[in-house]
Amino acid sequence: MRKFKTESKKLLDLMINSIYTNREIFLRELISNASDAVDKLYFRSLTDKSVQLGKDDLEIRVAFDKDARTITVSDSGIGMTADELEKNLGTIAHSGSQEFKAENDFSETDAADIIGQFGVGFYSSFMVAKHVKVITRPYGSAEVSLWESDGIDGYTITALAEAERPTHGTDIILTLKDDTDDENYSEFLSEWKLRGLIKQYSNYVRYPIHMTVTKSRELPKPEDAGEDYVPQYEDYEEDEVINSMIPIWKRRKSDVTDEEYAEFYKSDFHDFTDPVRTISVHAEGTLSYDALLFVPGRAPMDLYSREFEKGLALYSSGVLIMDKCADLLPDYYGFVRGVVDSSDLTLNISRETLQRNSQLRAIANKVEKKITSELEKMRDNDREDYELFWDNFGRSIKFGIYGGYGMKNEELGPLVMYYSVKQQKYVTLDEYIESMPEEQADIYYAAGDDLERLRNQPIVRTFTRKGFDVLLCTEDVDEFCLQTMHEWKEKKLKNVSTADIDLASDDEKKIAEEANEANKDLFAAMKEILGDNVAEVQVSPNPTEAPATLTTAGPVSLEMERILSNVPEEGKMRAFRILQLNAQHPVFEKLVAAQADGDKAKLRLYTDLLYNQAVLTCGLPIEDPVTFAEEICKLM
Ligand code: ADP
Repeated sequence: MRKFKTESKKLLDLMINSIYTNREIFLRELISNASDAVDKLYFRSLTDKSVQLGKDDLEIRVAFDKDARTITVSDSGIGMTADELEKNLGTIAHSGSQEFKAENDFSETDAADIIGQFGVGFYSSFMVAKHVKVITRPYGSAEVSLWESDGIDGYTITALAEAERPTHGTDIILTLKDDTDDENYSEFLSEWKLRGLIKQYSNYVRYPIHMTVTKSRELPKPEDAGEDYVPQYEDYEEDEVINSMIPIWKRRKSDVTDEEYAEFYKSDFHDFTDPVRTISVHAEGTLSYDALLFVPGRAPMDLYSREFEKGLALYSSGVLIMDKCADLLPDYYGFVRGVVDSSDLTLNISRETLQRNSQLRAIANKVEKKITSELEKMRDNDREDYELFWDNFGRSIKFGIYGGYGMKNEELGPLVMYYSVKQQKYVTLDEYIESMPEEQADIYYAAGDDLERLRNQPIVRTFTRKGFDVLLCTEDVDEFCLQTMHEWKEKKLKNVSTADIDLASDDEKKIAEEANEANKDLFAAMKEILGDNVAEVQVSPNPTEAPATLTTAGPVSLEMERILSNVPEEGKMRAFRILQLNAQHPVFEKLVAAQADGDKAKLRLYTDLLYNQAVLTCGLPIEDPVTFAEEICKLM
C-alpha cells in the first residue's frame, strides 16, 4: 500500500467525513475529467497521423448497479499508465492545490466551505463512495492498471491483464457508502437521479454521455384478444445519450429561433414570461467566451429585497462552475439573467480567486458594455419594449446612478426616462433637451408620489404655461438619482419647487421686491405665526394660480423630506421651506387688510389656512387636519 501525501490525506479526510450538502457534484467532476481525457485523445489525433479515431472512440458512459451499489463513469479517452496513475491520483494534482496548501489548517466547520470553493476533482468521489477503483489503459498500449483505495490511508496500484480492458480509456467505479439514518446514498442508484444530475451539471459537455435506460412499450395485441383485452407492457433497455452537447449559447444566432431562445430562458430561469431582449455574444481572440443574456419581461417579486441574488451562470467549456456568479454583473444590471461560458477559465476556480481572476473581470466588463449598448439599441429602435423594460427595471438603473456617486452618470444617464408633461409620454433627458425652447436654461422636474396629482400642481402648471416642459418623478429614488447627476449635457437638473428657479422677467422681479419691502411687517408677523414650519415668507416673482405655494431652498426638497421621514436614521432631515405668496391674488389683499387693522386673530387664521393649503397642494400631509377643518368652517 502506498501512502497519500499529507495534503491529499487532509482533503480525503474532509471528503469522507463531509457534511457538504452539495456532494452530488462528484458526478460533475468525474464526467469533466472524462471529457478532458477524451479531449486529450482527440487533440492528439489532430496532430498525430498514427492516431485513428472512430466515432465511438470519443464517448463517456455512466452506469449503475443497484445490487452491487456501484456507479461507473467510463470514458474512451487517453487513459493513464501506472506511472501517471501514481502521479495524478496519489497527490492533489489539480490546479486548486496551491491555494489549498496555503489554507491547510482548517477546522471541521470550514469543510463545507472549502469543498464549495475548490473544485475538488477526483477526490470528491469519496464524499459518496467508501471504495473507489480506477481501471485504465492508455491509448496505443496494452498496459492495463488498477488503482484502488478506500480513501483513508493510501492506495494500491496493480497491473491487470490486457483483457480486463480491451480498449483505451478509463473506468471509475465507485462503491457507495452505506445509508445511515441521516444520509441516503442509495438515491444515486437510480436512472432518474443520475439523468437529472447529468442534465443539470454536464448537459453541455461536448462528448456524448451514454446511459442504458429502461423504457416501457406496449406488447402487440394477440390476434385472439377478446373485447375485454387490456394492453400489456414490457420493459426494455435502450442506450440513450443524456446530454444535449451543443449549448444553445454556442450556436450561431442565425441558427436559433426566437422561440428556442425564449424556451431556453423560461425553462432554465424558471420564468413564465418571454424575455424582452435576448443578447448573444461570441467573442474570440485574447479573451474568448460565449454569453447568452436575457432581459426578463417582468421583474421578479423579490428583485429589490435582500433575498434577491444576482448573477450569471458560469461555465467552463460547457461544464457548470457556478449557478450564479455575482461578479459577472454590476448591481444595477442585476436583473439580467443568462450564461457565460469561457474555455479560458478552469473548473477548479474558487470563489475568492474568481474575484481576483482577471479574465473574469475582463469578461464582466465586456458583458456590462454589451448590456448597455443593447439597451440603448432597444431605446432607439423598439420604444414600446424599452418602456416595458423601463417600468420593470428603471428603478435599478436609477439606484445605479445614485449609488455610483456620479461615476455612473455617463454610462447610465442615457438610459434614463421620465414622464414628460408636455409630450405625455416617457422621454429621455436628451429628448427633453432637444425640445427645449431656446430661452430655457435648465431641465425641470417635479417630484411626488402620483403622476396625476403632480401634473395638476399649480407650480407645474406655471412652468407649462410659460412653454417649459416638466419631467414627473414618482419613485422614491428619482430625486436622489437626479441630484446625483446634478446636470445633464451642461443643463442643471432642477426641481420646480426650488425657490431659486428664475422664470420671472426683470419687471416681475422688481414688482416682487417692492411688494416684499412694502409688506415687511406683515411677512414678519406671518413668519412668527408659522414658527419653524417655514424659514421665510415672501412674494413670489413668478406666481402660480394659487394664493400661496411652498418652495424650498437647498439640497432637500419637500418630496425628499417626505421620503427620508420614512427612514428612521434620516428622519430629521428637513427641507428649507419658503412660503411664497401671490400678490395678485385677492386673498393677498385680505392679509394686508388684516395686518393694517391689527386684527391678530384674523391674520393667524388666514396664515394657517394659506400655509396648510400650500402643503396640501404639494401632495404632503398637514400636521393638524382637525384644526384646519374647523378653521374652514369658521370662515364659512
Ligand atoms: P484535475 O482534474 O483538476 O486535474 P483531479 O484530481 O480530478 O484534478 O484529477 C487529477 C488528474 O488525474 C487529472 O489532471 C488527469 O491527469 C488525471 N485523470 C483524472 N481522471 C482521468 C480520466 N478519466 N482519464 C485520464 N486521466 C484522468
